[in-house]
Amino acid sequence: MTPDLDVAVVGAGIAGLTAAHELRRAGLTVRVYEHLPEVGGRMRSVRHEGWTVDTGAEQVAPRGYRATWELLRRLGVCPADVPRVGGALAVWRDGRARLGVGENTAVLTGAGLSARARPALAAFSARTGRHRARFDGDRPEATPFGAATVRQVAARYHPDLHDYLLQPVAGCFFGWDTARSTAAPLVSLLLESGAPSGWRTYRGGMDFLARRLAEGTDVAAGRTVREVTDAGGHAVLRFDDGQVRARAAVLAVPAPVAAALRPDAPADERPFLDACAFTPMLKVSCLLDRPLAPPARRPLHVLLTPAVEEDVLSGVVVDHAKDPGRAPAGRGLVTLVAGPRRVRDLLDADGDEAADVLVRAAERYVPGIAGACRHRLVHAFRHGLPEAGPRALRERSGFVARPARAVEYAGDWVMLRPASEGAVRAGALAASRVLSRLGRRRPAGLDRAEEIRATA
Ligand SMILES: Cc1cc2nc3c(=O)[nH]c(=O)nc-3n(C[C@H](O)[C@H](O)[C@H](O)COP(=O)(O)OP(=O)(O)OC[C@H]3O[C@@H](n4cnc5c(N)ncnc54)[C@H](O)[C@@H]3O)c2cc1C
Repeated sequence: MTPDLDVAVVGAGIAGLTAAHELRRAGLTVRVYEHLPEVGGRMRSVRHEGWTVDTGAEQVAPRGYRATWELLRRLGVCPADVPRVGGALAVWRDGRARLGVGENTAVLTGAGLSARARPALAAFSARTGRHRARFDGDRPEATPFGAATVRQVAARYHPDLHDYLLQPVAGCFFGWDTARSTAAPLVSLLLESGAPSGWRTYRGGMDFLARRLAEGTDVAAGRTVREVTDAGGHAVLRFDDGQVRARAAVLAVPAPVAAALRPDAPADERPFLDACAFTPMLKVSCLLDRPLAPPARRPLHVLLTPAVEEDVLSGVVVDHAKDPGRAPAGRGLVTLVAGPRRVRDLLDADGDEAADVLVRAAERYVPGIAGACRHRLVHAFRHGLPEAGPRALRERSGFVARPARAVEYAGDWVMLRPASEGAVRAGALAASRVLSRLGRRRPAGLDRAEEIRATA
């Protein structure tokens, strides 16, 4: 039977849209099926009475996001559309915000580390610097840290390195429990992304790139895919009201969703799919009647709240400092991020109740926030970020070496990189694999040359 289209992509997050973009460039007919009414996935933004609220991702970096910047250049996006974030990154310690986290000066200033812990930061930086080339974000399984967890790696150093640097960063940005997640992807990402003072955000909302990619792409929004099978050389997608046949499918959804959609996944795919757990994330955005922020010597973009000092929150994001366009003039926008210890309970709670808990906890860092809050928006992600546990790290190389097939995968989890750059690279890689299998010329790609074995 003739297929309905060349490639069906499941999921209009940044990975699926990148894959679709690459495949369309190669001349294939592509349709993207998206469960939600809008594109963007974990990079969606919502608009409310003049506020622009980033529901998931907050920023990108000028370094370590090679494929993203290449894609932006190709789409004709000018640098002014990706401005530098305003405000600094700080960590809370002993009742106040400590500036300079992640900056080169941190070895001297401490940036929240006690004086006795600063040599530990210097030693850690020297160790990772010595092996810099082996911290390759594309091959997290090949770093000198092996499958050691963040906590295991930190145990060699003064406890402050874990408590006031690695845990707060991993907890706030990735929702990670440092006893479960491996150090390799975290350290590779930090080394590649560079200092937080250089980070960027998309003007007008983090959904900017998804919206640009979706222009001219055939996106069927509000269409939930129930099952995807490999019917001997082509893919079959099943919906509640019928099915679609395509020469290839790309499952650009979080790994647990992909595993559920693909009950017949081959033996060389299943171990990684099953090992690839996700951490949940929950954020509450507070639309404020004035631009409140945590008190500090300089305006803050993010205040990390370490688990040793704070149970409920992992951080406070000052969105109106990040980019003034996120809030109307004279107003504020502050987003509270739930901590890894409490997030599962809060996900099960009613949205208002979760918001109450987070706002109450935030009074300690942003005095007056409850009174200034005109409206609250809760963003809940059961599949927030790839957890990158030891088993996933060990199983990844087998998954990457599998032959190209009718059903391919994309998403940040494929790269075990808990950032949108991982999604872009995985989308590009999936497109390359589809093109190689269909015998099509691969246009100059965004992916690094990865070994792709076409099926015989
Ligand atoms: C709270 C949070 C903060 C983050 N902060 C940053 C940051 O600051 N910087 C950064 O670079 N990255 C950040 N990230 C990570 C970044 O958002 C992700 O890496 C990236 O968006 C993942 O894109 P994706 O396409 O792989 O997956 P997703 O964005 O999850 O896309 C999957 C899509 O598939 C759809 N879908 C699911 N099931 C089906 C189905 N059955 N049928 C049809 N469609 C389906 C979903 O609705 C979704 O749109 C953050 C993530 C979160 C959650």
